[in-house]
Amino acid sequence: MTAERAPLTLIGSGLTGPLLAISLMQRGFPIRLYERRPDMRHVHISAGRSINLALSTRGIYALQQAGLWHQIQKIIIPMRGRMMHSVAGEITFMPYGKDETEVINSISRADLNIALMNAAEEHGVSIHFNQRCTGFDLRSGDVHLRDEETGAESMIGADAVIGTDGSASVIRAEMLKLQRFNFSQQYLDYGYKELTIPAGHDARQVLELHALHIWPRGTFMLIALPNIDGTFGCILFLPFEGESSFAALDSESNLLSFFKAEFPDALQLMPHLIENFFASPTGAMVTIKCSPWHVDGKALLLGDAAHAIVPFFGQGMNCAFEDCTCFLNLVGRFGSDWPVLFSEFEKSRKADTDAIADLAIENFVEMRDRVADPHFLFRKKVELELEKKYPAQFVPKYAMVTFHRTPYSVAAERGAIQDRMLSELCDSVQRMEDVDWNKAEALVQRELAPLTGP
Ligand SMILES: Cc1cc2nc3c(=O)[nH]c(=O)nc-3n(C[C@H](O)[C@H](O)[C@H](O)COP(=O)(O)OP(=O)(O)OC[C@H]3O[C@@H](n4cnc5c(N)ncnc54)[C@H](O)[C@@H]3O)c2cc1C
Repeated sequence: MTAERAPLTLIGSGLTGPLLAISLMQRGFPIRLYERRPDMRHVHISAGRSINLALSTRGIYALQQAGLWHQIQKIIIPMRGRMMHSVAGEITFMPYGKDETEVINSISRADLNIALMNAAEEHGVSIHFNQRCTGFDLRSGDVHLRDEETGAESMIGADAVIGTDGSASVIRAEMLKLQRFNFSQQYLDYGYKELTIPAGHDARQVLELHALHIWPRGTFMLIALPNIDGTFGCILFLPFEGESSFAALDSESNLLSFFKAEFPDALQLMPHLIENFFASPTGAMVTIKCSPWHVDGKALLLGDAAHAIVPFFGQGMNCAFEDCTCFLNLVGRFGSDWPVLFSEFEKSRKADTDAIADLAIENFVEMRDRVADPHFLFRKKVELELEKKYPAQFVPKYAMVTFHRTPYSVAAERGAIQDRMLSELCDSVQRMEDVDWNKAEALVQRELAPLTGP
């Protein structure tokens, strides 16, 4: 086995690896990228093929900084709000933001990954596919690799390694062997399954295109996001065990009865439900927190490897892309002083990634349960009105997270204050004309103005 040296080695060419690689190449750092999967541009990989992600302000900003947004913009579909489907087939629309500029964007994970890898190669990044990192020596900096096709083992030397290898990070697993490494993982009792609504005649969408569709059912839900080819990528979120659960959907007849009872309108649009459902694995959702994210100047975790979160705020990728923004700002200050840079990166980012992890869990209950509640929809209207009246002080929590780049920890803190204010204003009334706007003014001045200015 021969060892060669390279300045920076990235493990994992998912969403974050190629973006970070491009941005570092632009700053003059040669990068090598190792990915365990085959090249999805040439080999069909089923996992994550059909799934769409919601791309919003933080992610867009990072793509803009790398000069990639004009390209990515061609493969997104803006979604203006949530479209809720009741069991009886009634539809309610709730806008995400205060106007047409506040939208989230549906993008296919595979198309985004491909666009990023193409751009990375155009920037001179060498991506080595079928190369699984099997270990990393934290003292010497040697990276151990196994070729997934041939089984051949190799070793490369690296001055520093960045683990962009996702929630099951091997680099993090190496850090776990160190003394005083803090690590927690919390699985939800819920799993998810990817399903598809095919395009209609002439590749037309069979549901409203510019919306994220939700079938909220209290303890579970189905969602659908539009694709540019006319299909909708759906995700069914269900408990693993119990009455309405993945365990209970163990036969074709149970599956069909469940969909007939709970999602009758969606069922009509899913002619391949049975094949889809039994072919698609049931995924688990986990929150991972750990610290430190780095070992001296030798290794750093970034993206899901450092902080995996559950998907209910649509922020995992956006947060990982914001990691890149933050990291690159520090490169501007510290250059290749990796020990200082890695340490500063964690210091500047940890409170925010912990905050979005907690907000994402909180939003799970909102999506599956509260969006169907008329009082919740009323609160949302009051919230938008408060934003209109006090744009400098009152920005809804969802907007702070999704449409602004307010640090997540600040959004969580101010969001909690605003939630209490909304309870005071809305709990005993049901109509806009009954809201006490004088009280609202007093609350804004007392609770929010000290934080945001008058
Ligand atoms: C159901 C679901 C829905 C989601 N929806 C959204 C959304 O709407 N919006 C949003 O912002 N986020 C969403 N997310 C989160 C988002 O997918 C992740 O946060 C994002 O993919 C993290 O990027 P990453 O580059 O850190 O990790 P990944 O994208 O997971 O990439 C890691 C890469 O590392 C490779 N790898 C792993 N181990 C090794 C190894 N040992 N050697 C070499 N390579 C390795 C993997 O093959 C992969 O290519 C969702 C997640 C899920 C599960």
